[in-house]
Amino acid sequence: MDQVECVVIGAGVVGLAVARALALVGHEVMVLEAGAAIGTGISSRNSEVIHAGIYYAPGSLKARLCVQGRGLLYDYCAERGIGFARCGKLLVATDASQLPQLQGIVAQAARNGVTDLVLLDAAQARALEPQLSCLAAIHSPSTGIVDSHGLMLALQGDIENARGMVVLNAPLQAAVCSGATMDLSMADGTQLRARIVVNAAGLQAPALARRFEGLDPRHVPQAYFAKGNYFTLSGRAPFRHLIYPVPQAAGLGVHLTLDLGGQAKFGPDVQWVDSADDLTVDARRGEAFYAEVRKYWPGLADGALVPGYAGIRPKIHAPQQAACDFLIQGPRAHGVPGLVNLFGIESPGLTSSLAIADDVLRMFS
Ligand SMILES: Cc1cc2nc3c(=O)[nH]c(=O)nc-3n(C[C@H](O)[C@H](O)[C@H](O)COP(=O)(O)OP(=O)(O)OC[C@H]3O[C@@H](n4cnc5c(N)ncnc54)[C@H](O)[C@@H]3O)c2cc1C
Repeated sequence: MDQVECVVIGAGVVGLAVARALALVGHEVMVLEAGAAIGTGISSRNSEVIHAGIYYAPGSLKARLCVQGRGLLYDYCAERGIGFARCGKLLVATDASQLPQLQGIVAQAARNGVTDLVLLDAAQARALEPQLSCLAAIHSPSTGIVDSHGLMLALQGDIENARGMVVLNAPLQAAVCSGATMDLSMADGTQLRARIVVNAAGLQAPALARRFEGLDPRHVPQAYFAKGNYFTLSGRAPFRHLIYPVPQAAGLGVHLTLDLGGQAKFGPDVQWVDSADDLTVDARRGEAFYAEVRKYWPGLADGALVPGYAGIRPKIHAPQQAACDFLIQGPRAHGVPGLVNLFGIESPGLTSSLAIADDVLRMFS
């Protein structure tokens, strides 16, 4: 049986960031990716926003890792020439009942270490974005956007420069955890023995962990899938900043984001689905977008929204339950030496990826 010191399952942004961190300090690393290319999972179906870290519960992993990850990500993008823009975002109140919520958001963000938010009245917001309709807004100057594929290619380059390997078309089937090593079985019958295994299989992470003999299934959460549908705007983007309504139950509301080419898109909405493969966008859902978007952009023309793409959030709580934190589960939590499971790495997972990698690395140093 071949032996590799560390195996990371999944070449999404999180798996690649973890593999890079392990490889840079001298570990022998192999990334196993089921798909034919890197980054074909959640990491290629998101908003590509570098979040500031505003909304997450103070003290949560999401709050800490988003703020740390954002700083690391801006520095990494600048250093490696990865496309990004610190375009800023406006969080808008369009109804008087939302005004007290804005104050609360500023206070919560400050507890998370996000201290650069500025409250704007309607005139100040319109001075920044003349087409915006709102009663008041919060300006977040450290929110930005990133070329997620450029980021993943740079991470892969770092792994390979540090003598790590990314193996494509290599789905892990199962593992047997016993003593200080884990025996991994690939779908094609290949067997590998590893000392460190990081399960970064995104939407499949819980299902994969259930196939790890020796890991008590009580430690594996139930997976739930919340699809987010996007609709793109035909024509010129009306805004230079990202525009968000005040947050709602399972998501951040129908917001406007921009890509680095200036294309505007609206979404993602929240649609709980039964399958991790259900990526179709039902054009009829766009009808509800018009009313939501016109609350802050009355200028949206009929017929301007075109079905775009969808991404699926790897939830570990049922629709009616409160949102969960990231679950970064190492040997201390589940008792299997060398194994780390990454569960529920939804937004802000892209922003947090480099900080998640540092946390995983610390478990082994
Ligand atoms: C709609 C939406 C919008 C989002 N917007 C943002 C945002 O703007 N900003 C932000 O910070 N975050 C955002 N996120 C979150 C972010 O996209 C994710 O947290 C991040 O991409 C997760 O990366 P990952 O590597 O964990 O998962 P993935 O990218 O899904 O990677 C997992 C990989 O594992 C592979 N795999 C699965 N099973 C196996 C197996 N058995 N063997 C080998 N390989 C396997 C898959 O093929 C896949 O490539 C958003 C998420 C969604 C759904």
